[in-house]
Amino acid sequence: MSDCIFCKIASGEINASIVYQDDEVVAFNDLNPQAPTHVLVIPRKHVSRVSELEEADAALAGRLILTANQIVRDLGLVEAGYRLVLNCNEGAGQSVWHVHLHLLGGRTFGWPPG
Ligand code: AMP
Repeated sequence: MSDCIFCKIASGEINASIVYQDDEVVAFNDLNPQAPTHVLVIPRKHVSRVSELEEADAALAGRLILTANQIVRDLGLVEAGYRLVLNCNEGAGQSVWHVHLHLLGGRTFGWPPG
């Protein structure tokens, strides 16, 4: 999508602090981190929100989680615990309309989330 900021990060048109990328996904540091580690993992394919993922996207959806798990292992954050979050629609706090998995780590987290 030409006006999607995360599509532009995936294509390299806009700079981001990229921590991992391959043919399917890109992971980069959040501009406004909510934890010492706050990485966003996105599919290169434009999908506006998690509710729009379809059966054909099953492997891609799994890839988002597996990518986050690998980053967490690389950073040595598994033992301490980490949180993966997908916000869907404004009521849940979604502000960028391209699916993104938040990977948060490096601190303790409360429950329920705000
Ligand atoms: P959400 O509120 O779940 O839609 O999350 C969107 C996230 O994208 C927020 O945490 C923002 O800080 C982050 N964000 C927005 N623009 C950028 C950008 N250009 N580079 C990195 N992170 C961004």
